[in-house]
Amino acid sequence: NGSTMLVSVNPADGAELARFPLHSEREVEAALAGAAAAQAAWRQVPITERVELLRRMASVLRAGKAGYARLITEEMGKPLAEAEGEIEKCAWNCDFYAKEAPAFLADEIIASSASHSAVVFDPLGVVLAIMPWNYPFWQFFRFAAPALAAGNGALLKHANNVPRCALAIEEVMRAAGCPDGLFRTLLIDAGSVAGIIADDRIAAVTLTGSTEVGAIVAAQAGKALKKQVLELGGSDPFIVLADADIEAAAMAAVKARYVNVGQSCVNAKRFIVDNAVAERFVEAFCRHAAALKMGDPLQQGVSIGPMARANLRATLHDQVQRSLAAGAVLKMGGAIVEGPGFFYPATVLDHVTPDMAAFREETFGPVAAIVRVDGEEEAIALANDTEFGLGAALWTADVETATRLARRIDAGAVFVNGIVASDPRLPFGGIKRSGYGRELGSYGIREFVNLKTLWVG
Ligand code: NAP
Repeated sequence: NGSTMLVSVNPADGAELARFPLHSEREVEAALAGAAAAQAAWRQVPITERVELLRRMASVLRAGKAGYARLITEEMGKPLAEAEGEIEKCAWNCDFYAKEAPAFLADEIIASSASHSAVVFDPLGVVLAIMPWNYPFWQFFRFAAPALAAGNGALLKHANNVPRCALAIEEVMRAAGCPDGLFRTLLIDAGSVAGIIADDRIAAVTLTGSTEVGAIVAAQAGKALKKQVLELGGSDPFIVLADADIEAAAMAAVKARYVNVGQSCVNAKRFIVDNAVAERFVEAFCRHAAALKMGDPLQQGVSIGPMARANLRATLHDQVQRSLAAGAVLKMGGAIVEGPGFFYPATVLDHVTPDMAAFREETFGPVAAIVRVDGEEEAIALANDTEFGLGAALWTADVETATRLARRIDAGAVFVNGIVASDPRLPFGGIKRSGYGRELGSYGIREFVNLKTLWVG
């Protein structure tokens, strides 16, 4: 937008918290040069020593949890308890890779005509990470712990509404004793990203963000022939079959939709419910959703804080209005909250059909779309009737049917009788327009490595 400042605004009241000048071209150049030099040295450090940095990152995060959580809540509005959970999860992820990375990247000996042949995993170089505001710490640490353990360097371009989190992450890394320059936060606008991707000192790109921006960044990285991992949008189905435990499903469904004020890529967004149980499910869902308290996200007991930005709320409200105009039935919510802050109430739309915005588009906020179907075939067909393919949940008492149906759902993860969530031990990522590549687990750490064949005659 041509501005030379990044402005941090508290979404709970709209008040400006701080502003930061964008980095100059010279500062960006120094960060690139510094990261390249630091990574060249870092890759020589044995992995068993590199993972010590991750252990220290975990300690710094845990020691500073209260302050970092408050910062997250003040800057993007999620309830404080969820922000604390986010910091804990970052620390867990650092500890997980500290323990597992050496085994994940151990040489893999493969018999061939050579006297010795193996696959070895070398680092790629410096990775540019472009991250969103919705889990401002987690999105970064999810990527960074394995990438650094593998011997890479990293530069972070964070979302423009979370500059204080971006700078706090730099502080965490410094306090953990990260080698000088190996990691830097860049305070830059989106327009400056293309030039950095093209720079020879950048080896690869990871983006977590919207599908629209994913396509732009993929084109830029493709032009420069650089490896990418893209974690993009989602419109996860939450399927409830006729034999499911309806009360348990509805309680989980409310959590799956409204956690993070509905602003998660893997929030359940489309509730696909068998007609035989739809009335009961909708009643239970609304009962649990109505119990969610909206208010100041710093206060205990509040589950619905403000949305992160005014424009995101406006987009969401427009999706609700278009769905209602197309025939959806409003069960609760659906109106912009008057007054300061970017609040939007827990909203439930019933009788949503595939032609409606709430079904076709990603709804990034506290709006649930309930779709009624007859039987599992229609449920699976509608679950797959989307351009996205991130996560999916399937609720039924028949686990055998569930594991069979799960294989027919076009998504990067299917959770049976559970809530889709990332876990350091399990790979995470999408298909279709939800992106490609994986993070987490043993697969995630192998994205930013040179999988090198070593052959000895
Ligand atoms: P966004 O608008 O796509 O922004 C994501 C990042 O991309 C920000 O750092 C943004 O910077 C940057 N960006 C924007 N335009 C760019 C351009 N032309 N070139 C390079 N970088 C650019 O997404 P968001 O609103 O922050 O996050 C919400 C989206 O992220 C949702 O669609 C959600 O589903 C998705 N998401 C996916 C996952 C996953 O793991 N799959 C996880 C979380 C979120 P600026 O802020 O400066 O514009």
